[in-house]
Amino acid sequence: MQEEKIPKITEMLLAGGKMLRVHCGNCGSPLFEFQDKIKCPICGGIKKAPAARPNAEPKSFDNLERILHKKIEEMSSQLEKETDHVKILELLKSIRGTLETVEKLRR
Ligand SMILES: [Zn+2]
Repeated sequence: MQEEKIPKITEMLLAGGKMLRVHCGNCGSPLFEFQDKIKCPICGGIKKAPAARPNAEPKSFDNLERILHKKIEEMSSQLEKETDHVKILELLKSIRGTLETVEKLRR
């Protein structure tokens, strides 16, 4: 995952977006469900949410993935309140690491 994608993905999480297990056909970023639409946080591609949920198929990693999502959400809200620059960078690093783990689980 590229460095410059992280703040945009974090922004989307903070705005209440939900990370999906589908990736953008344009830039390969994870897509987000945001206000009933599927939106790419990087290139801004929007498509209407499909009738069938993309995460329909059960996977053994689902539980771990859910936990990781929760952690990302927690770190995102922490990040929102944080004003210390060093801590902000630390949080971004942790968020990136967690996002990368989620990415790896999906492969
Ligand atoms: Zn994209």
